[in-house]
Amino acid sequence: MKILVLNSGSSSIKFKLLEMPLEKIICSGMVERIGYEDAILRFKKDDINVQETVPIKTHREGLSILANYLTHTQKGAIENPQDIHAVGHRVVHGGDSFAETTLITEAVKDEINYYSALAPLHNPPNLEGIEIAEKLFPTAKQVAVFDTAFYQTMPIKARKYAIPNEFYTEDNIKVYGFHGTSHKYVSEKAIKYLGRETSKIISIHLGNGCSMTAIVNGKSVDHSLGFAPSNGLIMGSRSGDIDHSVIFHLVDGLGYSLNEVKQLLNKKSGMLGLTGSSDLRDIQAKAEKGDKNCQLALDMNAYRIKKYIGGYTAAMNGLDAIIFTAGIGENSSLIRKLACLDMDYLGIKLDSVKNEKLSNVLREINTDSSQVKILVIPTNEELEIAKQVFNLIS
Ligand code: ADP
Repeated sequence: MKILVLNSGSSSIKFKLLEMPLEKIICSGMVERIGYEDAILRFKKDDINVQETVPIKTHREGLSILANYLTHTQKGAIENPQDIHAVGHRVVHGGDSFAETTLITEAVKDEINYYSALAPLHNPPNLEGIEIAEKLFPTAKQVAVFDTAFYQTMPIKARKYAIPNEFYTEDNIKVYGFHGTSHKYVSEKAIKYLGRETSKIISIHLGNGCSMTAIVNGKSVDHSLGFAPSNGLIMGSRSGDIDHSVIFHLVDGLGYSLNEVKQLLNKKSGMLGLTGSSDLRDIQAKAEKGDKNCQLALDMNAYRIKKYIGGYTAAMNGLDAIIFTAGIGENSSLIRKLACLDMDYLGIKLDSVKNEKLSNVLREINTDSSQVKILVIPTNEELEIAKQVFNLIS
C-alpha cells in the first residue's frame, strides 16, 4: 500500500512516499521558499537527486509540481495518482477534538480551521495542503495526524495554567503540546528496546524547535511546550521559558509594540539572540574557537534541559531512560554531554566514548553502571505518520 505523507508548512511542503507496511521509502522531496521567484524544489528517488530553483507562487503550484514528479515517466515513482492509497497529513493543532489519527471529512476540516486561531502559522497551510491533495489525489483516503494528539493523556494539573478558571473552561487556554509525533515514535522505540512492562521515560527533542516530554508507560504526563510552541527549552530562535513581566516591560517601559515583542521572542531570541546564529553547528564551531557568547549559550541551553530532567524525574517519581532525538539530540555530543553532566545523583551516567560515536541508529550512550539508560534515537515523523495512517485504514 502506497502512502504519501505531506507536511505542509507556511513556506514549504515536505513529502515522502512510503510502501507500507514494509516501511520502505519510495521517494521523497520538498519545495521550499514558496511565494518566491527562487523557490527550491528537491526530489529524491533511488539515485535520482533533483534540485531546481524555480518560481513557485502558491502551495497549489508547489504541490502540483511535486505530483508531476511523482508520475514523471522516467524519474517518477507511480504511474498515476490513483496508485496512492492514502495521504497522511501532519496537522499541528487538533486542540482537544482529536486524540487519535482521523479520516478527514468536511467536519474535520472545519475543526482544523477552528484551531487556526490557536496555531495561525501552522494550521492554515496544513489545511491548504489537505484541500489541494484532495483535488490532486481524489481517490486516496485523506488522513490527519495531529501533533497535539499525544498530549491528550496529560493530567489536568499539568495542562492547566494558574489563571482564572474561565480561561480554561471557556477560552480553551491550556497546554496543548507539540512534536507529539516525534515523542511518540521515539518513546515507543525506547519502550521496545527496554523490554519492560512499565517505564518512566523523558524524551528530549532538540531540533530548531525543542521540547521535552515525560512519559509513563507510553503515555505523556507532562510536556515543556504549552499553549503555543514557545515555552520551555531554549530553541533556535525562540526564548523558551521567560517571566511574562519582561513582556510587559518591553511594551510599557521600552515602547515595543506587541507584534514586535512576538517577533522578538519567536524569531530573534533563543540561540540566535544569544549568539547571532540559530544553527548549533556554527555555534559549536565558534565556541571551540573561544567565543564566550557561544560557550555561555551552550551552557544555558544544556542547563535548561537539566532542570527539566530533574523536574520530570520528580514528577514521575523515578526515571528509566532519557532519549535524545532530532537534529541536535541525534548529532550534538556536546549538548548531550553538558545536559548529562553531574547527574549521577539521579542515576544518569554518560559514557563519554559511546557519546562521541557517530551513528544513525538507536544507541545506548550510558555507562554500564548507569541506572538510567541514555538513548539516542533518530526520529522519523514521516514514518510514524505513515504507520498511523496504515493502521487506521487497513
Ligand atoms: P527541524 O526542527 O527544522 O526539523 P532539525 O531536527 O533538522 O530541525 O534540527 C536542526 C538543528 O540540528 C540545527 O540547529 C542544526 O545545527 C542541528 N544539527 C544538525 N546536525 C548537527 C551536527 N552534526 N552537530 C550539531 N548540530 C547539528
